[in-house]
Amino acid sequence: MNEMPNCIGCGAVIQTEDKSELGYAPPSSLEKETIICQRCFRLKNYNEIQPVSLTDDDFLRILNGLGEQQGLIVKIVDIFDFNGSWLPGLHRFVGKNPVLLVANKADLLPKSVKANKVINWLKREAKALGLNPVDVMLVSAHKGNGMTEVTEAIDHYRNGQDVFVVGCTNVGKSTFINRIIKQATGEGEVITTSHFPGTTLDMIEIPLDDGSALYDTPGIINHHQMAHYLDATELKYIMPKKEIKPKVYQQNEGQTLFIGALARFDFIKGERSAFTVHVANDLPIHRTKLENADQLYAEHKGELLAPPTAAHIGQLPELVRHEFSIKDGKTDVVFSGLGWITVQHPNVVVAAYAPKGVQVFIRPSLI
Ligand code: GDP
Repeated sequence: MNEMPNCIGCGAVIQTEDKSELGYAPPSSLEKETIICQRCFRLKNYNEIQPVSLTDDDFLRILNGLGEQQGLIVKIVDIFDFNGSWLPGLHRFVGKNPVLLVANKADLLPKSVKANKVINWLKREAKALGLNPVDVMLVSAHKGNGMTEVTEAIDHYRNGQDVFVVGCTNVGKSTFINRIIKQATGEGEVITTSHFPGTTLDMIEIPLDDGSALYDTPGIINHHQMAHYLDATELKYIMPKKEIKPKVYQQNEGQTLFIGALARFDFIKGERSAFTVHVANDLPIHRTKLENADQLYAEHKGELLAPPTAAHIGQLPELVRHEFSIKDGKTDVVFSGLGWITVQHPNVVVAAYAPKGVQVFIRPSLI
């Protein structure tokens, strides 16, 4: 095969296979003399950035590069998939640079939840995970809520320096930056791509009014998410689009909940308790007796228990069991990328099942 050319905008090696990866261009563009990747094309013509993803190695290189820069780091996480979108290594790379933590998709949380409570929770969790952000903010990039405040906070904390926006894929980083572009760019201003020192990876450079710039970095893929095991048509069921309506189940020990065929939750031991399920509203939840659960799953996955449907159930890795002995009430059992079940009462033993490779863990309740 001939060596592929580089994009004239960002320098990424052109590829024609995967739209979500760096350097994608439609096959027809290969015939042209100069080739520009789709991302740079959209940026150039529509002043709009598109999400791209990159490998862990590339991301480490970007992180390493960040430590050598001076400026404010804006770290975006998805409030619906907080731990899955956390980017664990970041605090080791940022050096002395301040980090502003922005939790996106606030519109998915039930309206009854107080923003302050969520922000305090975020502060505690960030600290526990080793990050000491200068501030924590909750926004909906999609709806625009909190965006003015974030823009002001960025301006305040950057102290005249550059801004680097980092985040895992799908946290809504592109939506966030596109909002900022609309707010920040007046007529005649140009957005450019630039190479990050020591890498060939593109960064989108958005000029700020004092000669500094805001840089978008490509998103990192999180391999522990449910999303990697689902077909695109089924993904739409697990990614909530609207405010989540929590569903409360009063369970006795010996009862099981199935979330489609994707996850299972056994109540093994404890007094009758309330369990609150926080997943996309359209995902079907099925309740059964623990003693029947294995058989029900074996016979009805892909049908009664779906998604995934029969067409895709074969691709789903087997479910792996994780047992938790929960001492404190108000503990979330999290299925990375799918949602969480809040255990309301203390002293229960539960088992949570998720496809092999998907992380399952407990944390103090978010809501
Ligand atoms: P990126 O991969 O981080 O650049 O993410 P995108 O901006 O492409 O967004 C990923 C998905 O999240 C898309 O389906 C967006 O519509 C959705 N999204 C982005 N921001 C929000 C938000 O504030 N609320 C909700 N509910 N969805 C959002």
